[in-house]
Amino acid sequence: MTFSCKNFDHDSGTCRKLGGECIPGRPGCVLDGQVTLSDELKKRLEEFDGRGNKRND
Ligand code: SF4
Repeated sequence: MTFSCKNFDHDSGTCRKLGGECIPGRPGCVLDGQVTLSDELKKRLEEFDGRGNKRND
């Protein structure tokens, strides 16, 4: 990861705010709607959706 987020738990590698996987730009993330996602992050969000998770956009 090339940025720092206060919600990222470096010990577990997860998001403390959302209680799960850190996917920058995912629903509820501080970056949601604030940044243009890279192709890699778009793919991770598609996989996130594919696991039955709900997005707000
Ligand atoms: S999902 Fe978003 S809010 Fe959570 S740790 Fe990652 S960048 Fe931060």
